[in-house]
Amino acid sequence: MEEAILEIIAALDAGKAVDAVWLDKLVRRHNRAAHDGTRQVAKRRLLPYYLRVRAEEPARWASWNVSEATDAALVRLLQAKPRRTASGVATITVLTKPWACSGACVFCPSDIRMPKSYLSDEPACQRAERCWFDPYLQVAARLRALTDMGHVTDKVELIVLGGTWSDYPEAYQRWFIGELFRALNASDEERTRTAAERRAWYEEQGLPREREELARSTAAIQQRINTGEVGYNEAWRLVYGDRETSAPMAELSWDDLFALHRVNEAAGKRVVGLVVETRPDLVTEQSCRDLRALGCTKVQVGIQSLNDDLLAANGRAITSARIAQALALLRRYGFKSHIHFMVNLLGATPESDLADYRRLVTDPAFLPDEVKLYPCCLVESARLTDCFEAGRWRPYTEEELVGVLVDDVLATPPWTRISRMIRDISATDILAGNKKTNLRQIVEAAVEQSGALVQEIRSREISVEGAEVDDLALETIVYQTATTEEHFLQWVTPAGKIAGFCRLSLPDWRALERGSSDSRASYPPEGHCGLPAPGEAMIREVHVYGKVAALHRTGEGTQHLGLGRKLVEEACAQARAAGYTVLNVISAVGTRAYYRNLGFEDAGLYQKRPLS
Ligand code: SF4
Repeated sequence: MEEAILEIIAALDAGKAVDAVWLDKLVRRHNRAAHDGTRQVAKRRLLPYYLRVRAEEPARWASWNVSEATDAALVRLLQAKPRRTASGVATITVLTKPWACSGACVFCPSDIRMPKSYLSDEPACQRAERCWFDPYLQVAARLRALTDMGHVTDKVELIVLGGTWSDYPEAYQRWFIGELFRALNASDEERTRTAAERRAWYEEQGLPREREELARSTAAIQQRINTGEVGYNEAWRLVYGDRETSAPMAELSWDDLFALHRVNEAAGKRVVGLVVETRPDLVTEQSCRDLRALGCTKVQVGIQSLNDDLLAANGRAITSARIAQALALLRRYGFKSHIHFMVNLLGATPESDLADYRRLVTDPAFLPDEVKLYPCCLVESARLTDCFEAGRWRPYTEEELVGVLVDDVLATPPWTRISRMIRDISATDILAGNKKTNLRQIVEAAVEQSGALVQEIRSREISVEGAEVDDLALETIVYQTATTEEHFLQWVTPAGKIAGFCRLSLPDWRALERGSSDSRASYPPEGHCGLPAPGEAMIREVHVYGKVAALHRTGEGTQHLGLGRKLVEEACAQARAAGYTVLNVISAVGTRAYYRNLGFEDAGLYQKRPLS
């Protein structure tokens, strides 16, 4: 392994054209040289080996004489899945423990090993199950995996999945989020030690984590769910009702959590975004305040459709009017909205889907920031199987599905990002519906063939190739929602690629007051909340793309070039020009110090900067 690394270093130092093909040849050559047929060098092991020597054997690493430039080039060459951190941060997805949901949607999977709506074959679910759904262990495992793949992990977006967040008990929510922060705040040694202690605790309790064993122990009850004999919630009570399914859960007060937040402000791995998912009918003033107190910055909301007939037919028990109210509330509290929207629901047609999505992206009552476009597919445990068998639902043909998705992509405005087009459901779990994991590529190829202009964010991101800062221009797109005037400020290249953006919300206070659903005081107490008052504007997001640059190292990509600061200054100027006197920012815990440097002061759940 060392010989191979030294050869790569020498080639980089000599300025040779070193790429993936060259690397493959090098690996093959070293393995052939072993003569005994054993694989001495594996490509995926090179980077972990190099990083381990760099971290744990400084004398040996020093003897390799690696310059800073060669170090960066070597990591780039050996890095697996560079897109993982291409959007500017390292994403860590974690799952909450199995839990019932108060919804009853016909298409929703019911896997008793998972929180409602998730399937144990999905990659994030497998990882969570191997960690007993323990938040600390999940973060520790992902950090280790990302580091082994060569990714910088000093800026982390935490995505908390697991059905409906607001259905979990408040104490569990606080503990879960607190453990995520605790794991990120720890030193590498401390995290490794604590993770080992945790694993030992679960093993002592005899709690299984092996897939085969879990499948065996839940097979009978899962069969009863699949045949419709019991619903997920009832099965959940039978399996978990009286036993703690996760962790030595310690009581964590709000003050304890805030103390963990404060440590993270200066930690080596800072939380620059925290996302949870919930249902629109559970978005209230109360839940928004609680989410903000937890440190949340973005909310994933399962909307699925805006067609009231379709919503009812699919057991959603919610109307488009309530969805509009939820989105207005999220905007008022400064959250980014990440919408789940489903194609091919029970009762839908390709034509109705097109109209539905167009309404989502043009009606001022909605206009989400991000969208996951999931085609509905049939899994054994969903109630949709009865409809399928009765001939009341059929999956779209590939042509129909691609046609709808192409139209959706083309209808998406430049301030909205389509983050996904399929769910990670394994093909073996899908009884009917799309099984192609490359559906997005098929859609993108069709879009390209159409020659039409694509405006949505993801297809314009500069990604791993970076951008030349002098070529960037700052543009503003203004659009109206039912309760705000939104200014989408974007750095764009001459080719129209996006290198960064800022979402500035200028509230229409009279409209907001009309839409307010409740004004109960809870946590945080009134007066401490710092919820923007009339005359105050809100920055909901600042995002600069490019490869992640380590917090205290510069020299790569478009971050650390002042692009974020310029976006914020321009947002201040535009808010001031529109007559607002204060600008709030919904900062993540790990970005508070950054905003203090830009003149913002801590004010309850937000940070504020006077504009006078
Ligand atoms: S609300 Fe979400 S988790 Fe609950 S049943 Fe419906 S789709 Fe499933």
